[in-house]
Amino acid sequence: MSLGGSLPRYELYINGAAVPPASGEYFPTQNPYSGETWALVARGGEGDVNVAVAAAHLAFTQGPWAEMTATERGRLLRKLADLIPAKARHLAEIERRDNGKLSAEVITQVNYLSDYFHYYAGLADKVHGDVIPTDKKDVLAFTKYEAKGVVAIITPWNSPLTLTSWKLAPALAAGCTVVIKPSEFTSASMIEFAKLFDEAGFPPGVINVVTGFGAEVGAPLVAHPNVAHIGFTGGEVAGQKIYEAAARGLKTVTLELGGKSPNIVFDDADLDKAVKGVVSGIFAASGQTCQASSRLLVQENIHDMFVQRLIDFVGTAKLGDPALQDTQIGPIATRPQFEKIMSYIEIAKAEGAKCILGGTSRPDLGAGQFVSPTIFVGVNNKMRIAQEEVFGPVLSVIPFKDEADAIAIANDVNFGLVAAVWTQSLKRALLIAEKVKAGTIWVNNYRATSFTSPFGGFKRSGIGRESGVDAIKEYLETKCVWVSSDLDVPNPFVRR
Ligand code: NAD
Repeated sequence: MSLGGSLPRYELYINGAAVPPASGEYFPTQNPYSGETWALVARGGEGDVNVAVAAAHLAFTQGPWAEMTATERGRLLRKLADLIPAKARHLAEIERRDNGKLSAEVITQVNYLSDYFHYYAGLADKVHGDVIPTDKKDVLAFTKYEAKGVVAIITPWNSPLTLTSWKLAPALAAGCTVVIKPSEFTSASMIEFAKLFDEAGFPPGVINVVTGFGAEVGAPLVAHPNVAHIGFTGGEVAGQKIYEAAARGLKTVTLELGGKSPNIVFDDADLDKAVKGVVSGIFAASGQTCQASSRLLVQENIHDMFVQRLIDFVGTAKLGDPALQDTQIGPIATRPQFEKIMSYIEIAKAEGAKCILGGTSRPDLGAGQFVSPTIFVGVNNKMRIAQEEVFGPVLSVIPFKDEADAIAIANDVNFGLVAAVWTQSLKRALLIAEKVKAGTIWVNNYRATSFTSPFGGFKRSGIGRESGVDAIKEYLETKCVWVSSDLDVPNPFVRR
């Protein structure tokens, strides 16, 4: 970071050093609460991508990183993990300033990264192949895992360092090198975070960061012939473009896309807990999370009572400055996202859904980029408000009759990221867990995730898994080695 006029200026990070962009241009990054530009960020382009990929490729093929054992890589990751707590407040402050997430939430998220890197530090030397008992005599066949190569990591604005680390920690544990393209709305925290890798002793070129826009940095990065795998979190439109570009280069991908996730509340549930679960599912982070439970499926006999309890709980939520400890709902992170949410509220009204809470912006707060917690009833699952991701604090309430009805409605969307069920019946909980098509099912809880546990989507919510042991495999190739102890080849024209 350097000072550009009175504003801090963030450079690219390539080959272990801060580097100005070839364009010489910088773009502003804004605080969504105050509306102020608080820093300038380097506007990278294709030339910068080429330099970063060359550095990552060199680090992957030659030099200390390429020579390291998995145990040594684990040691470096552990050092990095140990450096995070002392920098957590600073990094969290940057993220809060860039995307308006509550201080209380973002500091917890950033502190948690340390556990994340510790987990993959430990896993680095524990992923091993097998000896295969083949049907051939006089041969030893074994598998081993090898790092894929240079990985492109492309992330959105809602949880910048968390979603980057979900890819970065397993990629590094696997032995890959990386080029990261953070969201153009929230680049600064990654530039600051990259410095910690330097401090931990990662060799130059292992981690590179090229800031800028999707078309100018993301697209050439995905298309670069020396990029082997793309780890992406973001929206479906960019996800499809990346998947198409990866297909042209026959590259592998991990895609974490959006959701239209159901929170299913049965009449036998502990309703106090269910209310909190529904609130946390859609109104935490102002609904700007891939895990948002934007559809509340509630059993019809408790519909009115449950909705009233929700209104009582959310109606008093304190909107305001995310830096303040008592704020419960912060601003929308970006102006385009704010406009998208407001347009979906109009779409829902035009479709005939009834707005019983919110439905308005709050121009009186901060720079006016706030949306009141909004609840629609009378929603039919065919409506756009029930089918399309809003990525904001907008809840669609849909009544259901029984288990079969709940399952049918839950599955009647193109997405399948997460789902939750609230019930006291173990049988019913297990039925929902079995029948609902989603990568994560929560029973009587919401938003629990961990570095230990795989996360990802069914259907159009994504491809591949992040976190847990599954994630490291995304960054590894399997190689099978055949060793013969019988040197004689009786007939070379006939396969043994
Ligand atoms: P986005 O898809 O617009 O952008 C994500 C990233 O992709 C950004 O860094 C952007 O610059 C880059 N990008 C855009 N076009 C590209 C291209 N053609 N090639 C390469 N890179 C490109 O998403 P966003 O607006 O930043 O974030 C919101 C979206 O992300 C929501 O739709 C949400 O559902 C999704 N999301 C999903 C998860 C998940 O884990 N499934 C988590 C968070 C957000």
